[in-house]
Formats: sequence, structure tokens, C-alpha cells
Amino acid sequence: MNYDQIMQLALERGFYFPSCEVYVDAQAGFWEYGPSGVSLKNKFVELWRREFVRRDRMMEIDGSQIMSQSVFMASGHLSSFADPIVRCKKCKSIFRADRLITEITSMVVPESADLSEFDKIILEKNIVCPRCKGRFDNAHKFNMMFKVGIGPESESAYLRPETCQSIFVDFPRLYKTMRGKLPIGIAQIGKSFRNEISPRQSLLRLREFYQAEIEVFCNPNKLDNLEKFSEVENTELRIMVGENIKTMTCKQSLDSGVLPNRLVAYYL
Ligand SMILES: [Zn+2]
Repeated sequence: MNYDQIMQLALERGFYFPSCEVYVDAQAGFWEYGPSGVSLKNKFVELWRREFVRRDRMMEIDGSQIMSQSVFMASGHLSSFADPIVRCKKCKSIFRADRLITEITSMVVPESADLSEFDKIILEKNIVCPRCKGRFDNAHKFNMMFKVGIGPESESAYLRPETCQSIFVDFPRLYKTMRGKLPIGIAQIGKSFRNEISPRQSLLRLREFYQAEIEVFCNPNKLDNLEKFSEVENTELRIMVGENIKTMTCKQSLDSGVLPNRLVAYYL
């Protein structure tokens, strides 16, 4: 069975299905987990909690999904969490510039490329709208965060695009109230939201999805000061060294200088 067949079967058996499907204005990129889907998801979450959170004695939090504008100003998401898009002048269809170019010419242009780079390639390769053969406007950036208005004055806030934001914002309080000792992992699983331009069918690229994230806070001057390293020193890792994948233990990877310190080796 390939991926598409498995996803089709899961759909037929009610593991997941489109959100709001009885209405014509149902939007793409939103899905429901049915009873079997929830059971499966819960098993993943339990495995994640057991293997990461409990095993490494991390702290788990459950933060708010709506966060204030200042958070995303500080994180850089307001200015840079954006995709390059182009709009057809004729039928007004919108495409992600980097994907459109790759699909039509097989050229790979990083999504972070300068906007003028997309315009240049579209002109040079004579790329037109796949739907109506129309020409495109100049590329521009589209911020992928969902904006929400708080209260009657509709103050700007955003649905978090990643679960890590509250981990960073909450770190000082957690460190103090939980009497943390570095290095310390803070974990969170929950919903994240991204206003994707073209969500794919099925569960690969969604506008609302679960994310399980862990941030490990450490003292950069004490990256080799890690007692629990002895638990993993003989654990084998597969590491890309130059062009080759090498299998070596955590200890060997440090002794040979492939990995820079015990903290990195431990969490790998
Ligand atoms: Zn068009």
C-alpha cells in the first residue's frame, strides 16, 4: 500500500474527514479526527510523553493558542513568517511563487529568495497561470499567521503559528517557580495555525494542526557538564559525515569531533 491508499482507507474508516463538510463554504486544510483517529493520536501523544517528557523529566505546559502581537514582533514572525505569492492578473488565482516555479520548470528557488528573483524567473521562463494562461502581478509576501481581534476594540492578536512561543515566553516564570536546573527541557503539545495558501489534501499541509515541541534550555558555557550523558554514551547514532552516513556511539561521535558537545549528543 502506498501513502495515498493508506490515507484513502483511513478516510473511509473514519479516522479523519474534512471539517464542515456538510456546507458548501467548507475551507480546505481543516480536518476532524474521528473516533479511531483520536485513539491513534492519543497513542502517539502517550508515546511522546513517555519517551521524552517523563523519561527526561521535562516540564510540560499547555499554553494559550491566542497570543498578543508583541510576542510575534519579538519572535520575528510578524515580519518574516511569510510565503512569496503571485496573483494571476486575469483569473486572480494565487500561487506560491517558489512552488509554481518548481512545478513548471523543476528549478528549486528557496522560499526566502528575494522577491525580485521570483519575478525575474517568471519573466525569463515565460511562466503563465496554469489555470487560464494569464500573466502574473509582481511577487509579494503573504504573512501566514491568522490574525484575531480581541474585545470590542478588536485589538490585534494572533493564533500561534508554532507551539514553541509560549515555551519561550513562560521560561523565566517556569525556571523560577519550578526551581529548574539547567539544562532543562520544556515540552508542549497542542494546536498551531498557519494560513497556508494551498493546503494539500489529507494531513500533510494543514491550516490547523497539532504540534509537539520541546525546547531545551542550557548554559552555553557548560555544554559538556551533563551527568546523564553516561546513560547514552554507548547508544549508536547514524550521522551524516561529509557525503556518508556513519554509525557511531555518542561517545565516539564526541571523541572524533563529529559532534561538538555532550548536550547535542545526548539529545540526538
Ligand atoms: Zn489565471
